[in-house]
Amino acid sequence: MNCLDFRRRLGAEPHCNDADFLRHRQDCPGCAEAQARALAFEQTLRQALAVPPPAELAEAVLLAHATRQQRLRRVYRRGALLALAASLVLAFGIGLRVEARPLTDQAVEHLRAEAVTLTFTQPVTAQAVRDAFASRGLALREVPDGITFVACCPMGRHRTVHLVMSGEGGAVSVIYVVDVRTGAREDFQHGGWQGRSVPLGAGTLILLAQDGSRFDAVERAWRAALDAR
Ligand SMILES: [Zn+2]
Ligand SMILES: [Zn+2]
Repeated sequence: MNCLDFRRRLGAEPHCNDADFLRHRQDCPGCAEAQARALAFEQTLRQALAVPPPAELAEAVLLAHATRQQRLRRVYRRGALLALAASLVLAFGIGLRVEARPLTDQAVEHLRAEAVTLTFTQPVTAQAVRDAFASRGLALREVPDGITFVACCPMGRHRTVHLVMSGEGGAVSVIYVVDVRTGAREDFQHGGWQGRSVPLGAGTLILLAQDGSRFDAVERAWRAALDAR
């Protein structure tokens, strides 16, 4: 298990205790600390929510979502009807907040949550990159060089391919949002990041880096790869 796997697992299941998870926690102080923070947060939340809700509210929420809450069964099994109702309310709260924000903000937030990807230095194979785009229904004409991370990440309600390109001048993160095309090509600054947002094909290419000096070259490479000049 690497740091990214660990963080994803942690997000889904803060109390996870399978062997790979525990081994990584033992070996990686950064991830061990992240888990400690997550557990402390959960504890705070639990205390804050330890107020009996009206019975009808919990029932109504359960009923409405029973069919698509497979993932939350674990919470339910813990016997905590309240926890389930509360986590749904919380999830919707967060969901709404995320959707109301521009794509570029969501990209910065996504990157912060997966900052560990910036430290990956092993090149991934061209085939892995092609496969990631293929699973989003896109065929690449060519594969840009220097890719050290690729994954099909969800970002809010959007589907993306998330990549990191390392090279001179530091890593550039590339998030290709497959299903929405923004209006204008623009450079932006956000929370210490330099960014560029480019409508490309049917989607939007978002570049993020501490230093944007490679953006022109990276943008050219992806225009060629996606054949969408
Ligand atoms: Zn780690
Ligand atoms: Zn990602």
